[in-house]
Amino acid sequence: MTPTELSTTAQIRERVSKSLRSCGVDLAADAEATWGSWTPITGERLFPVTPATDTEITMAIARAYDAFGVWRSTPAPQRGALVRRWGDLLREHKSDLATVVTAEVGKISSEAQGEVQEMIDICDFAVGLSRQLYGRTMATERPGHRLMETWHPLGVVGVISAFNFPVAVWSWNTAIALVCGDPVVWKPSETTPLTSLACAALLARAVAEVGAPADVHQLLLGGREVGEQLVDDPRIALVSATGSVAMGQRVGPRVAARFGRCILELGGNNAAVVTPSADLDLATRAVVFAAAGTAGQRCTTLRRLIVHESVADDLLAGITEAYAELSIGDPFDAATLVGPLIGARAYEAMLSALERARADGGTVITGGQRRLHRQAPDAYYVQPAVVRMPDQTAVMREETFAPILHALTYRTHAEAIARNNEVTQGLSASVFTRDQREAEEFMAAEGADCGIVNVNIGTSGAEIGGAFGGEKHTGGGRESGSDAWRAYMRRATNTVNYSPELPLAQGVSFL
Ligand code: NAD
Repeated sequence: MTPTELSTTAQIRERVSKSLRSCGVDLAADAEATWGSWTPITGERLFPVTPATDTEITMAIARAYDAFGVWRSTPAPQRGALVRRWGDLLREHKSDLATVVTAEVGKISSEAQGEVQEMIDICDFAVGLSRQLYGRTMATERPGHRLMETWHPLGVVGVISAFNFPVAVWSWNTAIALVCGDPVVWKPSETTPLTSLACAALLARAVAEVGAPADVHQLLLGGREVGEQLVDDPRIALVSATGSVAMGQRVGPRVAARFGRCILELGGNNAAVVTPSADLDLATRAVVFAAAGTAGQRCTTLRRLIVHESVADDLLAGITEAYAELSIGDPFDAATLVGPLIGARAYEAMLSALERARADGGTVITGGQRRLHRQAPDAYYVQPAVVRMPDQTAVMREETFAPILHALTYRTHAEAIARNNEVTQGLSASVFTRDQREAEEFMAAEGADCGIVNVNIGTSGAEIGGAFGGEKHTGGGRESGSDAWRAYMRRATNTVNYSPELPLAQGVSFL
């Protein structure tokens, strides 16, 4: 199903500039800029913006580094007060931010609103955390002693973010880093400069209102070369980088070479196992959202369906029927479920992956066609595809950032788990079953080897309360809830002797 008219670029510009003004961004100063922002809705340019120069990058890092001196000694609950105010502003401007996200990324409105909701949720979480940065006291082996650990702010955090979650990922990092006492320097995706300007303006307003150090957050617009400067600068204590595996392979070793810390949140290649006992109606709905939602452009998008041979035909028939009902088009239209791909390269990658799947013996059961190209020749709308594969061939072991669901059948539960695990990425996995033994096996040590393992729910759409991230080539990083905050702090182990004696550890005698 394809809804009718797309918004025009002029209409999108109008909506975006109204939202930006409401968030406190004035684009007038950038009128001469050669660099710009585009919308995937029409494939046309929105507004010019100016990337940071080398000098501006160095100065921004220096300002954040200086701010650390003040921020680390500010009591954590007071740091939480900044995040509380920021969260209030995000509530107030939820639809403004969602408008800019939809315009720059092409996410449908409800998903864009959901992404801003994640920002609000992580602010709430971080405010609570600002009074709970607990260390432990451990049993000591020596009389008259106390053994404990304390957590201290780490330093400046460099956040490098990807195009597909242009606000949530930054906020997961920034809300936690700020309450942990760390200033943030943010290098957003080159695809989403306007979204970042709006976010930074709201945070700057919160900073000014609560009287926090003005330089506690810095925004640096630009391409990968800006990210590279953050990666190499020794004043950046932690680089939190979200993006492709290829990016992580470059960033990880460079940060390690200077003994900096890294959180890597990289590509996924997520699978769902559908067992003979699964509720097929529920599984179908979950699979369709996870595979076709966000036009297949989530790191947690479902890309591999591993379905028991006894239910494969029924499940695939249900999915094909649901895919025929997906309305593809303008993400600002409330009836749309699938917006555009981010650009031409994503479309070409999708075509090439479908070609390779066919060459490997796959059958495209539905989808793969381009849509709306007559109306918007520079935009890339596609019909999400399902391909039945004879085996897990090379094309299935890579992440193609587009809505292609590869389906294969299995016979034993052990085989299904092995199939799930035999790719290099390890982000998210799901099992659909009513058999508790199968569910437990899937979550056990010998089960799915991913950072996120779900039962009777799709691979995408995590809540902020849990730690988010994946294993293997997904990078091993964890962000957001649970105890992910520890990566943003340094731990000191303290031994205090309050006795007049000097007993040595392990019973050592000396002097
Ligand atoms: P990308 O790797 O092209 O770019 C991501 C960011 O890294 C951008 O800001 C880019 O400018 C920067 N960058 C690229 N090379 C760099 C380098 N050598 N040094 C420093 N910075 C560099 O990714 P993308 O196309 O924007 O996003 C899609 C990818 O991100 C997918 O692979 C997706 O799975 C992944 N992703 C992962 C998560 C996660 O949490 N695991 C979340 C969102 C997206």
